[in-house]
Amino acid sequence: MGQSYKVAVIGAGTAGLLTARELQREGHRVTVFEKADKVGGTWLYNSRVESDLLGVDPNREIVHSSLYRSLQANLPRQAMSFLDYPFLKKQGGDQRTFAGHEEVLRFLQDFARDFGLMELIRFGHEVIRVELVDELTHEWVVESRSRQNESTWESKEEVFEAVVICNGNNTEPKIAEFPGRETWPGLQMHSHSYRIPQLFENKIVVLIGNGPSAFDIVREISPLAKQVHQAIRSPGFRLIKLQNYDNLWQHSMIRCAHKDGKVEFQDGSVVDADVIIHCTGYKYHYPFLKSNGVVTVDGDHVGPLYKHVFPPNLAPWLSFVGLNYRAIVFRVMELQAKWVAKVLSGKAELPSKEAMTCSVEKLYGEMEKNGRSKHYTHCLQNGEVEYVSWLAAQSDTRLPTRWEEISFNTIVKRVLYCGENYRDAWDVDDWIEDIRCCSKI
Ligand code: FAD
Repeated sequence: MGQSYKVAVIGAGTAGLLTARELQREGHRVTVFEKADKVGGTWLYNSRVESDLLGVDPNREIVHSSLYRSLQANLPRQAMSFLDYPFLKKQGGDQRTFAGHEEVLRFLQDFARDFGLMELIRFGHEVIRVELVDELTHEWVVESRSRQNESTWESKEEVFEAVVICNGNNTEPKIAEFPGRETWPGLQMHSHSYRIPQLFENKIVVLIGNGPSAFDIVREISPLAKQVHQAIRSPGFRLIKLQNYDNLWQHSMIRCAHKDGKVEFQDGSVVDADVIIHCTGYKYHYPFLKSNGVVTVDGDHVGPLYKHVFPPNLAPWLSFVGLNYRAIVFRVMELQAKWVAKVLSGKAELPSKEAMTCSVEKLYGEMEKNGRSKHYTHCLQNGEVEYVSWLAAQSDTRLPTRWEEISFNTIVKRVLYCGENYRDAWDVDDWIEDIRCCSKI
């Protein structure tokens, strides 16, 4: 056994559960703070929506999950399995390869139960302050509050030697800005508050974005809506009517919105819309973190962070698990969790503060040189395989043979090949079997 510390983990979603398991395996004393009354985070569907559907009012009551009722995973279950805990089809459960959200939640609940994590979690405890009080002894105060009744909260301070932040990053909406947005008279909302399509019956809807949520939502509302117009920011998009749909168009981005309800696109087309749905992603958000400016958060980017996990000046006593996207995120989180646990127990070593800072600055420098905005710092689309190999090496973890052939990019390629019906059209078991067969040759 290595060194053992008293560690606070914030959040009991996928990242927090994986982190708690790895910390416990390494012999640390773990307390997980979870504001909800169940594990699962994003995967705990909530039919309730926030009072401000656009999610810009800082005083709104937050609803954590952004799931819509019909949501089916966009990755096959093989890509949502943990290294030693596969996401299997269970008798009586959802048999689909692209599992429904209830099935993903069950997988996470089973994981928490099978690894004895439930006892480590303090449910109904929201962390409201994390602050370093003694640099020398790396003492962190974690202040949490729990509801006593309708109007009263009780708050409590405790001291920990290390804190791992796993509070998720799909809750604080990021919205699109365009001239006239604030005075446009129709209903504007963010996909964070989208649950069911019925609200859009007979409406003319403009939907901004081209990510996985936009893809699903346009197809779910088009049978009910009068018209659906998808505005896409990436260059090269111009007005087209989608084949196989009577009422679905793709446009370039919105140029401006008018007080009479008209929405004008950069391709010159104009529609008289009722609703604008912003499917424009989320911001990183750590309202509880008091780091004295050591860690800065500007919505799209958290930094400086060595390899997306450790702020060099506070390492290893503060860390983040789960910031990356456009990757097989469960795999990345699992390896980040193993790395954090091993660094704390002294079995994995971090470079010096200066070397970590230098590595982060080098990354920023390279991004700037390549004209890549800081907005993409935590996007792994073209660096996933290299990063995952690097992470696995830090914690001495053996990855399955040919694991790199099941990456975000190979999955996107298959999805594009199978077309918009990919969840039904793609025989993933067959694809995996082919990969396994090749590895035996
Ligand atoms: P979360 O699941 O958000 O968990 C964070 C936890 O922290 C929550 O339980 C929350 O209550 C708690 N918390 C937050 N703040 C506090 C606080 N101050 N105090 C105490 N507790 C707190 N990924 C896939 O792999 N496959 C998919 O198909 C997929 N589909 C997705 C679809 C949608 C619509 C969205 C939004 C995301 C999807 N993802 C998917 C990504 C998904 O976010 C990750 O799979 C994963 O669930 C993120 O886990 P997490 O632990 O980082 O965050």
